[in-house]
Amino acid sequence: LRPDHKASPALEQPAPLVKLTSPARVVYPDIGATKQQVFDYYLSVGDRVLAEVAGRLLSIVRCPDGIAGPRFFQKHAGPGFGEAVRRMRIREADGDQAEYFYIDDIAGLMNLVQMNAIEFHPWGSQVDALERPDRLIFDLDPDPSITWPQVKRAAVELRDELAALGLSSWPRLSGGKGVHVVVPLAPRADWDAAREFCGRFATAMSLKAPDRYVGTMSKAKRSGRIFIDWLRNARGATSVAGWSLRARAGAPAALPVEWDELARIRRPDRYSIRDAASRPLPAFIADLIARAPPLPTPRG
Ligand code: ATP
Ligand code: MN
Ligand code: MN
Repeated sequence: LRPDHKASPALEQPAPLVKLTSPARVVYPDIGATKQQVFDYYLSVGDRVLAEVAGRLLSIVRCPDGIAGPRFFQKHAGPGFGEAVRRMRIREADGDQAEYFYIDDIAGLMNLVQMNAIEFHPWGSQVDALERPDRLIFDLDPDPSITWPQVKRAAVELRDELAALGLSSWPRLSGGKGVHVVVPLAPRADWDAAREFCGRFATAMSLKAPDRYVGTMSKAKRSGRIFIDWLRNARGATSVAGWSLRARAGAPAALPVEWDELARIRRPDRYSIRDAASRPLPAFIADLIARAPPLPTPRG
């Protein structure tokens, strides 16, 4: 090195995105994962989390004292959010206005992580077309007596029934107990139409196989069955983003996978803070999004 050597700009550290406080705080006591490790995880999967959440209103689960402490499911913009977290006033169901929030870059994501956000739950529409959903979610919630292979079989059945209506889909491991079947849409129909379609679809599945599926919230009817939770498809409802960590033991992550791969996956919380970052966005998903059809018009 020459005495006047200086690091080239490319080798210099980038400007810090956010000042991380309490990096040594234990967030996941069961595995000893710290806030620094959660931060590093989200930095490494930031591109993929952003592909799922950028430009969508968000709900977040915040755990200021780690997952063993109190948790807050937050959908309204709060004090302390930095400028990288965008605010948006919208009409709520009761007709009143409220301030929601979204992010569109890595600075926004890391800002929320610094604010102890663990889980990221986006809307099924984008902020520039808030009233036109571009994702449908069928959230398969198994009764405790249902086995994982039965859940996987259900996801494949939903895929095939949706395909018969011209809708392609991908499976997302929830990182919890179930799978979400995700359907990309061209954003044309409104929320009422999407909700109506999803309710009818879940009802049709439950009429076809009443011993296996239920399309209503009623806990009693869910025993021994899989609840096809279609209520994720109402205006203001959310579902967890791919690569989001869950505030559950073991720091599992939600993750989209290939259909043929799903058959080999042994648990819905198979991936976690340890290995979800090694998973790319499956190429077929980008393709499905690019070719997404509008909501089919209901028949009959
Ligand atoms: P699992 O596979 O264990 O069911 P999940 O993410 O599907 O995991 P659910 O309880 O079925 O969990 O919830 C489905 C979605 O509903 C969540 O991903 C989240 O976006 C939303 N949700 C859950 N709890 C709340 C809540 N308290 N307030 C608002 N939305 C919620
Ligand atoms: Mn669920
Ligand atoms: Mn659910």
